[in-house]
Amino acid sequence: MKATFPHMGEAYAAIKGFLEDLGVDIVIPPACNKKTLEIGTKNSPESACLPLKVNIGNYVQSIKMGADTVIITGSCGPCRFGYYGIVEKEILKDMGYDVDVIVFDPPGEDMKEFKRRIKKLTNGNSFYKSVKALLKGYEIAKELDDMNKLMYYLRPREIKKGQVKSIFNEYEREVFKVHGSKRILELIKETKNRLEKVEVDSERDVVKIGIIGEIYTVIEPFVNLYIEEKLGDLGVEVDRSMTVSGWIKTNLFAKLVGFNEEKAIIDAAKPYLPAMIGGHAQICIGNAVLYSKQGYDGVIQLLPFSCMPEIVASSILPTLSKKEDIPCMTLVVDELTGESGYVTRLEAFIDMIGRKKEVIGL
Ligand code: SF4
Repeated sequence: MKATFPHMGEAYAAIKGFLEDLGVDIVIPPACNKKTLEIGTKNSPESACLPLKVNIGNYVQSIKMGADTVIITGSCGPCRFGYYGIVEKEILKDMGYDVDVIVFDPPGEDMKEFKRRIKKLTNGNSFYKSVKALLKGYEIAKELDDMNKLMYYLRPREIKKGQVKSIFNEYEREVFKVHGSKRILELIKETKNRLEKVEVDSERDVVKIGIIGEIYTVIEPFVNLYIEEKLGDLGVEVDRSMTVSGWIKTNLFAKLVGFNEEKAIIDAAKPYLPAMIGGHAQICIGNAVLYSKQGYDGVIQLLPFSCMPEIVASSILPTLSKKEDIPCMTLVVDELTGESGYVTRLEAFIDMIGRKKEVIGL
């Protein structure tokens, strides 16, 4: 088996560590790029969600590099994500690629099926060894999230512009060269140490923005046009409401012991959206409310064009914005999104918030 998986922001490093610890041969797709999107768009139904199109591009690029098995996460509920595994397999088959697709979804009620898939995915290793490797993958995801938080603080405050970016780019080049979770974790630690030495102006007054919306769009920088970097350059400290480690904790570990990790967020969403309608719409609304309570200056919702749950969430945001007194902006992305219009909207939003802050400060 030579396995591949969607690139998904920095998540590939956690999956790499997890699978390498189990001795699984892997192919990491190249970082998402124009070619990835072009392949996916050309070969997927026009109405398919943007993340699915990018996934297809990832797989094809990996298959051309020798991959024969695709690993993806799954889901259930009234949203197209639940069909990704089947649809993606069919698309690849139509393209002439007869690869195995392993769907790694939350355990739900069928623990036997969950264990069977784990066994297949984990190269026949024992359940104990697989869980140990999974925990290491989770640790990598958590360390990466911490590193991101550090970069969110540093970017708007760094004295020498571009330093954070260049350290992170170096990490991204190196992580491909190292093998196994131990080395990946060491590399992250080394990178964090370097980041901690970046000189900053800690007195600088920055705008604080929470990023909410559809999880894939939030965590994949190519799809969201590197919004965290762009906002950092505009003097904004961001916070990402959804992360890979958060997804693992909520959907795997907490569910296994019957704990609802997202209860506080769902409770916050209830006055505006009392029911789960698929995707992360309810979480998106709950996080917007919580960002307001935590004193953030604004929220930006990201969603792929035609994402049903997030369209519902975006229709609620204007009311929420008034009641919770927090500026909200929605950015829709698809394969036709132009960078200059996107940046202009970001600049205008941040400018508006900056002026509001000044007025309040008077
Ligand atoms: S959350 Fe939105 S983009 Fe993601 S699968 Fe569901 S409908 Fe598609």
